[in-house]
Amino acid sequence: MPQMSNRMQLFTDSVIRRMTRISDACGAINLSQGYPDFPPPKALTDTLKHIADEGPHQYSVTYGADNLREAIAEKASPVLHHAVSAEDEVLVTCGSTEAMMCAMMAVCNPGDKVAIFSPFYENYMADTILCDAEPIFIPLVPPDYQFDIALLEQAFQQGAKALVLCNPSNPCGKVFSRAELEAIAALVIRYDAFVITDEVYEHIIYEPNRHIAMASLPDMWERTITCNSFSKTYSITGWRLGYLIAPADVTDACRKVHDFLTVGAPAPLQEAVVTALHFPESYYKELQQSYTEKRRYFLDGLDAIGIAHNIPQATYYVMIDISNWLALPQFHGWTDLQFCEWMTKTIGVAAVPGSSFFREPVNHLIRLHFAREKDTLTEALRRLKKMAAYLK
Ligand code: GLN
Repeated sequence: MPQMSNRMQLFTDSVIRRMTRISDACGAINLSQGYPDFPPPKALTDTLKHIADEGPHQYSVTYGADNLREAIAEKASPVLHHAVSAEDEVLVTCGSTEAMMCAMMAVCNPGDKVAIFSPFYENYMADTILCDAEPIFIPLVPPDYQFDIALLEQAFQQGAKALVLCNPSNPCGKVFSRAELEAIAALVIRYDAFVITDEVYEHIIYEPNRHIAMASLPDMWERTITCNSFSKTYSITGWRLGYLIAPADVTDACRKVHDFLTVGAPAPLQEAVVTALHFPESYYKELQQSYTEKRRYFLDGLDAIGIAHNIPQATYYVMIDISNWLALPQFHGWTDLQFCEWMTKTIGVAAVPGSSFFREPVNHLIRLHFAREKDTLTEALRRLKKMAAYLK
């Protein structure tokens, strides 16, 4: 039999998405893969119905419909402190997943190194390997997910061509402060590297934290590829619509990758999402309030049943500490993956094992999300209480 490529030995399928399949098979409450169980805004689905009749149904311009790129440029310009050109600085992609892959392919040669903060969203390592590049991990150390800037400098000294920056950060909910971003930017400039960002949680952020885009910092526009998505902001993860924004020459390279990888994002959905980009400021405030309430409800619930957790500054994820269970005889020697599988089958709540996010040997943290209707969170907490009872 002919052999598969060597790179296929270097990564597995996504554990996050595998946990969803296990959850579905068990009929568990799925708090693993992060997506909402509530509908998108009605104005958006109404527009989609209209588009079903009126079109477009054929390809859009490969790098994104004109009106969508214009709407993206208008929304992003104040955030990035740059008058974004819809004409040549925006690329619409199939999710930020594709945006990041295009960015990585556009900047990395085989053998290049890419710095990645750990814990990290699984795709970044797979993206790096698919480019035949090599990841260098910089720990964000729990429980407060601080990092040592000297380790980032070492990564650049080893030749890192780019840094992947997920801000706000999945899975740990960290929001990078201005001081942290400035320190990172200083190194990126000194060592002449790129930053590839993932900012899909920019609007799911809790007071008093503020999202600051890396590209908005002085001298960072030129070297930042800002990747983003509509999935989380408009509760449409299944539409697979994202985008990247970068200087024209970089965007041009990313557009070439995209052109041959996917040809284009779905045209009817691109047309529909323009409606959402014209939502008033109040939409984003309400989204933030709604997630603030879900966070309060879920974390209070975890506190009430005695489950230790971090307090995310943003995102809809929370890391819970399973050390106390792993110390019990019946879980002795278990991995966090085994624990998550047991939890899904026996407790009826699916989580993602922390080891799928951490490069370091972390086995005592698992990730839950709370992008769920209140009733679902109530039922999840009721089930988690049964899990907490093992510790009594
Ligand atoms: N970002 C989501 C998560 O971390 C899922 C994204 C995906 O599976 N494409 O769970």
